[in-house]
Amino acid sequence: MYDPLIQNQLANNQPYPDSYWASVSGKAPQNKGRLQQDLDTDVVVIGAGYTGMSCALHLQREYNIKPVIIEANETAWGCSGRNAGFILKSTGRKSWTKMQQQWGDPVMRMVYQEACEGVERVHAFINEGIDCDLQQPGYIRVAHKANKMQELEAQAKLLSSMFGYDVDVLSRAQIHQHYMADENAHGAIRFEDGVGLNPLKLAFGYQRLLNDAEVDIYTHTPAIDVQKHGARYQVHTPQGIITATKVVIAGNGYMPKGFHPAVANKTLPVLSQIIVTEPLSDAQLAACNFVTSNVIMDTRALKYYYRKLPDNRILFGGRGAITGKGADDPYFAERLLQELKRSFPGLADIRYQYRWSGWICMTLDDIPHIAQAESEPGLFYAMGYCGNGLSFSVQAGKRLADKVAGQSVPNIPLYQSQLPAFPLPMFRRVGQWAYFHYGKFADRFM
Ligand SMILES: Cc1cc2nc3c(=O)[nH]c(=O)nc-3n(C[C@H](O)[C@H](O)[C@H](O)COP(=O)(O)OP(=O)(O)OC[C@H]3O[C@@H](n4cnc5c(N)ncnc54)[C@H](O)[C@@H]3O)c2cc1C
Repeated sequence: MYDPLIQNQLANNQPYPDSYWASVSGKAPQNKGRLQQDLDTDVVVIGAGYTGMSCALHLQREYNIKPVIIEANETAWGCSGRNAGFILKSTGRKSWTKMQQQWGDPVMRMVYQEACEGVERVHAFINEGIDCDLQQPGYIRVAHKANKMQELEAQAKLLSSMFGYDVDVLSRAQIHQHYMADENAHGAIRFEDGVGLNPLKLAFGYQRLLNDAEVDIYTHTPAIDVQKHGARYQVHTPQGIITATKVVIAGNGYMPKGFHPAVANKTLPVLSQIIVTEPLSDAQLAACNFVTSNVIMDTRALKYYYRKLPDNRILFGGRGAITGKGADDPYFAERLLQELKRSFPGLADIRYQYRWSGWICMTLDDIPHIAQAESEPGLFYAMGYCGNGLSFSVQAGKRLADKVAGQSVPNIPLYQSQLPAFPLPMFRRVGQWAYFHYGKFADRFM
């Protein structure tokens, strides 16, 4: 598999991965195909995931600026078409408690407000007629050990006192009786408003809105290089040069190595792996009392996440290989399957029918950065959602559009600071490997 930490070019003829989403979402909407001539435009957006498409939609709708989008492969070929489809009110990996300690209450509240707006924005787009198989709302955060319940209860108190955001605290017996009989669940908190959907259908919906707005998307068109020429930029693609006044980098974890100094060595792409089982029979559903289609995640440092899909399959995800070379090793899918069976002994005979993985985009400070690049007034980027970007990337796209249009945005670190560079970037994978080992230890013994 393509490895953004090693390769400095992203191949441009790749189909969607062999995922469950690709198999149930139908054909991608029409696009312009490969760019085969030079173009001149105000704004070019690199990457047709949620970030790039949201930025383009907001530029067109709010500022009457019609950008051109280029995508190396297919629309939403990166994370946006591969994720687990959990809409959560969150951004990045930094906990609300840490934000409160580091930035103080007012800033933390503003970040929370932005996360809420992200969720509202996604629902508003869906309400324009996007059919993306929204499920019954609810997000269950499961304590994988009894002692993790204290942390969850503290989180519930903080959410209630800070934001008036009430969550239910559930005992193991309540989870087993009303949601699912997960043997690894020692209690949980449940948020009313998380929800699961089909992420690729959502992306196709965004693309249709762009088509309606006559915003062009060129697929199979990788940006190979960005060069500055006087006050303008030239974005080189294999068969055409795009000259633009402003360039938006929206490639997230898929941005090739060394693509541009504004983002090079400032992220760590990490593989997340997903399996989807065959549909559960009535007997299997009954054996694990899997009545909920809420989205579920546990408290491990190396988290597992899962949900029941509309056709009674289980989607189960967790960490994947460390390198692109290891990504296709079935070991990682098998590991998830074994963990699923440990959680639900009633599924001892279940098999998976789909497995795939994708690069989530980690940052040194655990938050995404939506920025105008330093000393480059015409270059913008948004990236680093740390695996938490389904809804926040849409908010990031909106804020990116505000910045491109020269408007002010809320004064929070996510929007007012550049991506920090990793010290000793060549050792990022070693650091990841060490963290995985720490995580394994912590999840077992702490
Ligand atoms: C397995 C997995 C599960 C996840 N589950 C969830 C979840 O349940 N909930 C949640 O909130 N988040 C989840 N995420 C994260 C979420 O999917 C991402 O944060 C979000 O999709 C990021 O969108 P994006 O548009 O910024 O990036 P992407 O969707 O990755 O899009 C970037 C695009 O840029 C293109 N590109 C890159 N370089 C170039 C170039 N040089 N030229 C042209 N095009 C280029 C790529 O081909 C790609 O299509 C998950 C991620 C993974 C991998």
